[in-house]
Amino acid sequence: MTIKAKDRDFIRQRANNRCEYCQKPDFITSFSYQVDHIISKKHGGSDNLDNLAWACFECNNAKGADIAAYDPITNMLVPLYNPRTQIWDDQFKIDNTGFIIGKTAIGRATVTILNINRETEVALRQGLIELGNW
Ligand SMILES: [Zn+2]
Repeated sequence: MTIKAKDRDFIRQRANNRCEYCQKPDFITSFSYQVDHIISKKHGGSDNLDNLAWACFECNNAKGADIAAYDPITNMLVPLYNPRTQIWDDQFKIDNTGFIIGKTAIGRATVTILNINRETEVALRQGLIELGNW
């Protein structure tokens, strides 16, 4: 898929220059940020702006074509977080060590399938928090 430069700019600005899944600011590594299909094309997702999200390489790569995952607590299959229809703070919270915690089944399933708390990412978030850049 080719995203027009103006659409890519719009998507990035709409996301406040942060990954819409892990909230990592893109001033760190913006070159590797990607436009994600929230509902993957494999599952019939469109190229419309309301199906697109700004995502860091790590989240986008881990998400792949997935649209749902099992909540590790209830073992229920739930849709992944949708940044166009849901609010990040309703689904997740971040603690002062940089660890992102799912507050809901959707949040927990998304944290798990996107491997959002991999060691290097938590350390990076903790450093940004300590520097006041989160
Ligand atoms: Zn991310």
